[in-house]
Amino acid sequence: MQVDVAIVGAGAAGLFCAGVAGQLGLKVLLIDHSEKVAEKIRISGGGRANFTNRDLDPAAPHKHFLGENPHFCRSALSRYTPQDFIALVQRHGIPFHEKHKGQLFADRSADDLIQMLLRECEAGGVVRWQPCSVKNIRFSAQGPGGAVIGSYEIDSSEGVVTASSVVIATGGLSIPKIGATDFGYRIACQFGLRLVEPRPALVPLTFDGAAWAPYAQLAGLALPVQIETGAKKARGAFHEDLLFTHRGLSGPAVLQISSYWRDGQPIRLNLAPDADLPATLARAKASSRKLIANELAALVPGRLADAWVQQDAAWQRPVNEASDKALGGLAERLARWKLTPTGTEGYKKAEVTAGGVDTRDLSSQTMESKQPGLYFIGEVVDVTGWLGGYNFQWAWASGYACAQALAAR
Ligand code: FAD
Repeated sequence: MQVDVAIVGAGAAGLFCAGVAGQLGLKVLLIDHSEKVAEKIRISGGGRANFTNRDLDPAAPHKHFLGENPHFCRSALSRYTPQDFIALVQRHGIPFHEKHKGQLFADRSADDLIQMLLRECEAGGVVRWQPCSVKNIRFSAQGPGGAVIGSYEIDSSEGVVTASSVVIATGGLSIPKIGATDFGYRIACQFGLRLVEPRPALVPLTFDGAAWAPYAQLAGLALPVQIETGAKKARGAFHEDLLFTHRGLSGPAVLQISSYWRDGQPIRLNLAPDADLPATLARAKASSRKLIANELAALVPGRLADAWVQQDAAWQRPVNEASDKALGGLAERLARWKLTPTGTEGYKKAEVTAGGVDTRDLSSQTMESKQPGLYFIGEVVDVTGWLGGYNFQWAWASGYACAQALAAR
């Protein structure tokens, strides 16, 4: 079989790119080793796919994206915006709604989006081989018919394919049980491209068992916090909900900060970001005889207040009997809780993989690598979005930029 483009990976980026390229007149073959199409879209956003975010400024991508070069994604994001994807969703009559902070979700289910992408592929005459595994990809400097532009030969379980271009859209390592592999990274290495060490991101953080024991009883408790880690350009800071778990911390605040966190680094938390703790405790001391834990329960959830005062005998008494130093220490520790995670819950629980194909070896205009005719799109690239629909927007935008470039080739 001979095609213009072979795309490996029928996830968000691969499906979208295939549909656009097909509709631009290219003969496209889309290959995926999984039995089911786009499983990650299906499980995303709690089954309703947070498919984009209205709050995205393509001129300032570093606000919502990470990577060794956070400006790499600017070109693609400005050429295919959240508004463009929203218009597509509307053309397909898919009902959606906005949640927290510009996040858009399908009203019914993520399957509406998968069906939309499949219809777009159908409109572009895309041929899909699935399940189909790729054994190897070879580059030959001789193109079809002896032309010298070069072409690729793909050895697959469904047969050999010759393609003028190959697009790698195999995503990252997150959630191996639904088909994630390191295929994209291996192909990048085979063609001499650099990699930024992949690591789990948007992932719960874990703590040493003994050190975590006093907090394990808080599992299930959620509260709004201010959280930060890192410094200068590598600093992340969020005001979001925190969730205590048996092994550590999760919830949107921690998932967001995990993308910035590096091994050995502390994270800093303010557990009562909306309260003036020193002033409130001083007022309570002057006017109340309640236990400190009861006063604290007006500022943070009661379970947290009860567990928190166990850390110091000076906090386990009526507030009017506490010293100013003890109350000051309590306010300080709640507002500046510094702790160092021992690790993360890993790829089994990570929503994305940070790192990936080094953007120094890719064109930000076209997604083509230094290896002519070989493109990388979506999560396999060292571009990681915040929680909130940014990763899908990157998949759509990088897929679109790539499809346009393929058609212009
Ligand atoms: P994927 O969608 O992962 O697709 C990669 C495809 O490549 C898969 O179909 C896979 O089967 C295939 N593949 C892999 N290896 C091979 C191989 N060797 N041969 C052939 N095929 C292969 N992002 C958001 O923006 N909003 C959300 O609401 C959201 N929710 C999420 C919830 C969960 C639980 C998870 C895990 C992720 C979520 N994400 C969300 C992240 C988002 O799903 C990904 O960033 C996005 O799917 C990446 O698109 P992709 O096309 O690059 O990769």
